[in-house]
Amino acid sequence: MPPPRTRGTALRHRLAELRGPDVPAKALDARALAALAANPGCARRAILDGAGVNKAALASALGSPSAFGQSQFALTRGNAFEAKVKADGGAELLRLVHEKLDRSAEPPAEARVPDLTATGPQGRTARTALELREAAAHPGAWTLLDHPMLALDVAGSPAFLEPDAVVVHPDGSWTVVEIKSFPLLDGSADPAKVGAAARQAAVYVLALEEVAARLDPSPRVRHRILLVCPRDFSNLPAASAVDIRKQRAVTARQLTRLTRIEDIAEALPEGTCFSPELPADELTAAVESVPATYAPECLSACELAFHCRARSRETGAVTSLGRPVRAELGGLTTVEDVLAAARGEAGDPADPAVAALRRAAALRAEALEAACR
Ligand code: SF4
Repeated sequence: MPPPRTRGTALRHRLAELRGPDVPAKALDARALAALAANPGCARRAILDGAGVNKAALASALGSPSAFGQSQFALTRGNAFEAKVKADGGAELLRLVHEKLDRSAEPPAEARVPDLTATGPQGRTARTALELREAAAHPGAWTLLDHPMLALDVAGSPAFLEPDAVVVHPDGSWTVVEIKSFPLLDGSADPAKVGAAARQAAVYVLALEEVAARLDPSPRVRHRILLVCPRDFSNLPAASAVDIRKQRAVTARQLTRLTRIEDIAEALPEGTCFSPELPADELTAAVESVPATYAPECLSACELAFHCRARSRETGAVTSLGRPVRAELGGLTTVEDVLAAARGEAGDPADPAVAALRRAAALRAEALEAACR
């Protein structure tokens, strides 16, 4: 008789069914994990990511391909900028870390830059952990880990993550460095891009904290990361310290929710499958069977954004107008409900949202009447 399945095995089996027969699981990377924090309440995204579904392939099969991905030119320019920032043993990068985050420490005249090459992601993760332990054993020095590899446990499987750099300060604390190719203009950058970089860095911080927890004493993982960007469209690096405590807390909470994808999977109809090989109508029904919370922020964070936006508009959901509007409207969830409440045809007049809508409608009518006189 076969041995009884453990909960973990049963869940893995169920997730493989959802992904589709012979469809390989797409490993979660820092960008995917960071995007979870951009829309914490979306069950659709949680189950698709948890099951390792390739959302870009799914979006194409649904007829709403995602617009993600950098051009070859942008990739080449980004790589050239990163190489410049890390030239001369990372001298400029370490100078920026010292200037923005640790002015009380000795300036980094020289630093250890260990070789992190190893075979496979597991080998590279072990090598990184070894070098971090080595740096912890030699306080007083600066150490630069160039493209270390970290592992984060996500729903029982390791996600391998590769930050641009991690710096070990002389006091033994660790800082994540993110190098991006969008410009810092007069010391500030596009808030949406900085937010995305902060969410990504928060994932690295969580992974580093797992490494730190295995050391005794545990080194401090700093919650202010260094964001390095080109200054004012030049190729010269400029840096800014970014506090990622909020993003770290949201991502940590999301990862805990991911471990409960079992509940979402159980609520799905028997036979649900997200394989891109399926006909578009079957696939649409499968995707629609999982509740989603579309918001305009999805456009920069999730491959399914065009599909979910179209569905949200079709149903007249107020979520497509943005989270602040949705929050203001309370229990009114569709544009139709909102208009009916404003016209006085529905809604409780004691509800502040309904009262505000009626007042706005009355003011609009008055203004139109005055304009026609
Ligand atoms: S695009 Fe759709 S699946 Fe992705 S996070 Fe937004 S609502 Fe969820």
